[in-house]
Amino acid sequence: MKARFRGVCPECGSEIKVGQEITRYHGRWVHRSCAPEVEPESE
Ligand SMILES: [Zn+2]
Repeated sequence: MKARFRGVCPECGSEIKVGQEITRYHGRWVHRSCAPEVEPESE
């Protein structure tokens, strides 16, 4: 899904900007490209 709030990606340490594609990983929001694996998630 797309980020609705700014934040920091715990995987790469870079900023998550509003509108970027993100995914949930271990309960935290990370860039989709930063998630080591994709967890099944209903949006
Ligand atoms: Zn990241």
